[in-house]
Amino acid sequence: MTDTFQELNLNSKIIKAITELGYERPTAVQQRIIPTLLNDTQDIVCLAQTGTGKTAAFGLPVLEKIEPECPYVQVLVLCPTRELCRQIAQDLKNYARYIENLNIVSVYGGAGIEQQIKLLQKNPQIIVATPGRMLDLLKRGATQISRIRTLVLDEADEMLNMGFKEELDAILENTPEEKRVLLFSATLPIEVEKIAKNYMKNAELVTVGTRNAGSDNVKHYYFVIHEKDRYTALKRITDYFPDIYGIIFCRTRKETQDIADALIRDGYDADALHGDLSQQQRDQVMGRFKNKNLQLLVATDVAARGIDVNNLTHVINYNLPDEAEQYTHRSGRTGRADKSGQSIVLINSKEQYKIKRIEKVIGKTFAKAKIPTGKEVCAKQLLSLIDQIDNVQVNPEIEQYMPLINERWQPLGREDIIRKFMSMEFNRFLDYYRDAPDLNMVQTGKREDKKEGNAKNGMIKESGKEKTGRGKERKRAKESPSGREEKGLVWIKMTIGSANDLTPRRLLRMMSALGVGRKGIGRIEIRKEASYIQISERAAEYVAQQTDGSEYRGKKIKTSLVKKDR
Ligand code: AMP
Repeated sequence: MTDTFQELNLNSKIIKAITELGYERPTAVQQRIIPTLLNDTQDIVCLAQTGTGKTAAFGLPVLEKIEPECPYVQVLVLCPTRELCRQIAQDLKNYARYIENLNIVSVYGGAGIEQQIKLLQKNPQIIVATPGRMLDLLKRGATQISRIRTLVLDEADEMLNMGFKEELDAILENTPEEKRVLLFSATLPIEVEKIAKNYMKNAELVTVGTRNAGSDNVKHYYFVIHEKDRYTALKRITDYFPDIYGIIFCRTRKETQDIADALIRDGYDADALHGDLSQQQRDQVMGRFKNKNLQLLVATDVAARGIDVNNLTHVINYNLPDEAEQYTHRSGRTGRADKSGQSIVLINSKEQYKIKRIEKVIGKTFAKAKIPTGKEVCAKQLLSLIDQIDNVQVNPEIEQYMPLINERWQPLGREDIIRKFMSMEFNRFLDYYRDAPDLNMVQTGKREDKKEGNAKNGMIKESGKEKTGRGKERKRAKESPSGREEKGLVWIKMTIGSANDLTPRRLLRMMSALGVGRKGIGRIEIRKEASYIQISERAAEYVAQQTDGSEYRGKKIKTSLVKKDR
């Protein structure tokens, strides 16, 4: 096995580019494939997960063999989604940074075709395309692929899942007999085997990791919950991981939007990604997620394809996909590029058989996990807060104010100061998790503490407060963060929004600093230039007074009470 890129005999321009990208050693799939692609001629079917480095595995040898002086299409890469298409093209461009006169073009649906036709007129040597758009362009005579030497089918199983079979057949008809075909797939369903049989010659099957298996870096956990507690359990789990940076997978677009809305309302840095959003909206959400301005991306399977984010800590299956194979794709979003990750599944008691089915597909076992108690969540959050404080860089400017601070705080002891300081950030969690019920399901089908939940069908409609014991429930229902039919809450508007990097969590922090805990806050809506907060009548005027005219990240805030029912 080769340990360095130099040993793989790649030319110095490519080595220079990948070294600059921080690639130190070839990944397993690169070690396995690059020598074969450089030294042999046979077709390859490669079973590899996303995130294993497969783009470079085929991309580097392809670039090694490209002839930039020949102005015609030599390589066609087909992949299932626009996002993946752009990602692959960008990766190839990065690897080819020092190769002169090389033109790489990506074409995909959902964007203007005229512009893409113009790009194709500039004689690219490499095209990266989604199948539908590629066929459309071929039909219009915008390009020719009759001289390609290499055809790459990336995420072939996904392309077939998405119903691109006919387009693939038609595109392949336009390619020459003599060419090399490289097929990459995370799973090997019968349809993929058929493609390999029909269009490839004596293909070598290369398996990186176990066939159909998930990455070794991913640990799989499942939680058994009552159906009605699904949303509450989701919040509990995400709260238990204060540094979570993950994708929550839902089954339908509507469910995706509902969950994202509920999470936003409940103060999480979350947003939705699904097919009902415009391309612009999707790009914006992805941008925020990649920049870590969003902690939680709630997504459908299709929308999440091609997301290239390496350091996700978690993938949460809010609901399992219908196909066990799809789980492989989902869990493969974490544990990438040698990082570890967790894939979490929420199931009700009737769904337990699905776990067995998935275990067979991925060749790994799940651990049954217990939903943390409210106390455990609070302890975790508290420790995270202490870590944050530990890591704060103390600005020397603070020294000049120390006498003032000492004077003000003299009457308070050290313990009291710590108590107050921690409470400022932490009251929301303490409020929320006081008397929080056990959400784990026991064999009898009853919750372990025998308490019932407060929502009838799932938690979305009545998002927010977990049940807190019957007596208190009625009192608290009025203060539910969803705040829809609540009395005593009014809206205030502030002229800062996502354009100023305001997130629900930051807004809650701001309110907490003003002494308004989560209990006193209802719905939150953050728009681009403004945000709306439903807040208890008692606190509204005070908050308006305190924030109006103050600054947030350099932007002067105007705060007003909004009368109309929004
Ligand atoms: P891919 O499976 O091609 O989507 O790659 C997953 C991620 O791993 C991408 O962000 C690549 O930039 C990164 N990557 C690929 N090869 C290497 C390598 N040899 N060393 C470090 N990172 C890599």
